[in-house]
Amino acid sequence: MTSLPRVAVFALGGTIASSADSGQAATVRITGAELLGGVPEARQVAAVEVHTLKMVPSGDLRLPDLLGLRSRVEAAVRSGVDGVVVTQGTDTLEETSYAFELLTSLEVPVVFTGAMRNSSLPGSDGPANLLAAVRVAACPQARGLGTTVVFNDEIHSSRHVRKAHPSSTSAFASPGLGPIGYVSEDRVRILMRPAGRLHVRVPAAAADARVAQLTVFFDDDGRIIETVPALGYDGLVVAAFGGGHVPSWIAPILAKVAEQIPVVFTSRTNAGEGLRQTYAYPGSESDLISRGLVPAVSVGTSHATVLLRLLLMAGVEREALAWCFEQASDPHGLVSISAGGPSA
Ligand code: ASP
Repeated sequence: MTSLPRVAVFALGGTIASSADSGQAATVRITGAELLGGVPEARQVAAVEVHTLKMVPSGDLRLPDLLGLRSRVEAAVRSGVDGVVVTQGTDTLEETSYAFELLTSLEVPVVFTGAMRNSSLPGSDGPANLLAAVRVAACPQARGLGTTVVFNDEIHSSRHVRKAHPSSTSAFASPGLGPIGYVSEDRVRILMRPAGRLHVRVPAAAADARVAQLTVFFDDDGRIIETVPALGYDGLVVAAFGGGHVPSWIAPILAKVAEQIPVVFTSRTNAGEGLRQTYAYPGSESDLISRGLVPAVSVGTSHATVLLRLLLMAGVEREALAWCFEQASDPHGLVSISAGGPSA
């Protein structure tokens, strides 16, 4: 008799762990073990072990929680588990799953999932998402994919996934790419594999770095932007218009900020790749680059904020940041970045 694959589930709270009393709104109150108890089918797919690490809405998760999760997951992998599932709230799942991907370089599948409807609602999606996530975590073909997000039977790469709807059970999407696979009945289909992965070596005891994230808006006067360094932030991510543009009067403000802390600019369209040399007016993408801002290339805004924070925590020199964002956009093989510099 062949033994079942071993899957470790780490529960952090969120809607998937929430329920409500009659006529009331939901709160987080379901442990990982209770969650698994509601999906007996999971135990036919894998030998599942469950650990409840947090019971919070995902807006309350913080980077130290992910560093703690990393050490627990790495210990589970050392003990021989074949795959890992992380359950949490969906609000910050695009950031946490990407942060976890950057913080680790694991071969075993690591699958983040959650739910849009709490367990007291008709058609609650938590059990189906959890079962699909366990199937992917237990699937040998999912090895080496990096951290994925399994939701509504779709498999998304953490590098591209976004929460794109406030309430739909198909809230997760990978704009411009789509899911890299899907689950159908008991079958896991991997349709695409990433060309490479990025790993940022952040030691467990690394000092935190704080990165602010701002979006440039119509007729922005730049007053908030100029306050960022004085507030003690170590870096800034600015979501610029279109291909990477800001009003002409904002460009010198950003340049002044960039003299003090690294400033990365993304596109507030959150799709495609930013421009480099299409426009030359003050505030254009080429102007921002010439003023010392770092293009995020194709990394979306919330992902860029996570990446810049981890790069700063890893002690990566400012001169290497542009290279790192280039690698994050187009990695080949496993690219590992540490304070000593990048190594492809
Ligand atoms: N507010 C919830 C959270 O992120 C939403 C969810 O889980 O879907 O924790």
